[in-house]
Amino acid sequence: MARYVFITGGVVSSLGKGLASAALGALLQARGFSVRLRKLDPYLNVDPGTMSPFEHGEVFVTDDGAETDLDLGHYERFTGVSARKTDSVSSGRIYSNVLEKERRGDYLGKTIQVIPHVTNEIKDFLKVGEDEVDFMLCEIGGTVGDIEGLPFFEAIRQFAQDKPRGQCIFVHLTLLPYVSASHELKTKPTQHSVKELRSIGIAPDVLLLRSEHPIPEKEREKIALFCNVRKEAVIAAYDLKTIYEAPLAYHREGLDQAVLDAFGISPAPKPNLDRWVDVMDRLEHAEGEVRVAIVGKYTQLEDAYKSIAEALTHGGMANRTRVRAEWINAELFEREDPSPFLEGFHAILVPGGFGERGTEGKIRAAQYAREKGIPYLGICLGMQMAVIEAARNLAHVKDAGSEEFDHEIGRKRYTPVVYHLKEWIQGNHIVERKHDDDKGGTMRLGAYTAALAAGSRVATIYGSTEIEERHRHRYEVDVRYREALEGCGLTFSGMSPDGRLPEIVEIKDHPWFVGVQFHPELKSKPFAPHPLFADFIRAAVEVSRLV
Ligand code: GLN
Repeated sequence: MARYVFITGGVVSSLGKGLASAALGALLQARGFSVRLRKLDPYLNVDPGTMSPFEHGEVFVTDDGAETDLDLGHYERFTGVSARKTDSVSSGRIYSNVLEKERRGDYLGKTIQVIPHVTNEIKDFLKVGEDEVDFMLCEIGGTVGDIEGLPFFEAIRQFAQDKPRGQCIFVHLTLLPYVSASHELKTKPTQHSVKELRSIGIAPDVLLLRSEHPIPEKEREKIALFCNVRKEAVIAAYDLKTIYEAPLAYHREGLDQAVLDAFGISPAPKPNLDRWVDVMDRLEHAEGEVRVAIVGKYTQLEDAYKSIAEALTHGGMANRTRVRAEWINAELFEREDPSPFLEGFHAILVPGGFGERGTEGKIRAAQYAREKGIPYLGICLGMQMAVIEAARNLAHVKDAGSEEFDHEIGRKRYTPVVYHLKEWIQGNHIVERKHDDDKGGTMRLGAYTAALAAGSRVATIYGSTEIEERHRHRYEVDVRYREALEGCGLTFSGMSPDGRLPEIVEIKDHPWFVGVQFHPELKSKPFAPHPLFADFIRAAVEVSRLV
């Protein structure tokens, strides 16, 4: 039976609760325990799949096809444990389950209420798979006191009561603001936050304090006293140079020890932190630097492409080089030569995206990379744009485009080299879609197998002719253009096992040009960089040596 660590936040949002949870997961693993991490989000969307990346950052996709919060990406990157559908839940999902049961008559005769029906639904979610791991780490989104979060806080309070004593602990993350006029760290907001937490029946066992300045001993003592937490469980969380420093830094401050102490696990198994020492060594002792242009639409918000940014860093670590990723807005060169914007980059990446806006710029970026021999990695929409570019400029398909653009402008204008996919095989059944289906959860989502052509660049990179990668798309390259495009040098080197859905295209006669219909960035880890990103950066390093 798993022990539960509930991670909550207070004072302000965006303190890095997700990272702290992920780092704690990594530290418990380093001590030989198995872990699973979970996220409970208070918003009312059923999942973040229909939210704009501007609203919520990247949508992270799991193997089993759930569209989840980007924190699940951190969890996977730090622990290597593949997240599942049952590791992410929102108020929207909880209420929708409760209402579905109500309609079905599961609660026949009863009045449906937040307590116990909503809280029971949350508790059921927490219990899934509790026999599989030593520790279940559950992060509650938002901050204590948020109206939407209340049912979650109530549910975890009840959950800890339901379980045997000592099986659940609470970690609370807050901020110690620094007042420069008086050169002081202020503990009052933390005291208030803990008071708020205790008013709903939760007493924290461990406090994690974000601070830009060293926390003096006497402040720790004061916090311990006023917040009723042991002094050794008042842990500093200082700003870090890189997120991958978090496991080592939190270990130094005693987080994992405090957590094990709170459970009464003694003696605590010794940690083996070699993995994180190596990760930091690779980051700190990198030679040289490559510049990668990420040509996309959501360029103002780095979180929109979180996993891509991380996967590029991992690619750099594999080559012991620094990667400087620069976000370039594709709309800057929708109708003009992109050279002034793209010159000087050692590689170009066009990431996933939705809608027509910016696509002409992405097509021009693909053309620029193809013609100038600059390494190009097209991901999902980025692959579709590379195919459209080749169709237009090499195979002379007039008005080559995607049905996605037609759908948006509301008329048929393009020749659909990329079409709306309405039927595909998943496992041993056929999935069907219609044009006017609901938007939520209806894309081709999650892990699918692809067969790679023997001898292709990608088969060499993966070291295999069968791979499994995560997908999230509604549109698909039309296989009927295969012959024409291959005749022009764009090879379809990865296909769905039934041979109907193009998964990878590549140009042989080019230093490095690969487009993938899936999202390799989602599976990259700092301690196991994704082979495509590792090789893409290797190619970028080669270009950087030539100039
Ligand atoms: N909008 C494209 C599609 O739905 C690409 C999706 C993506 O890049 N994730 O097929």
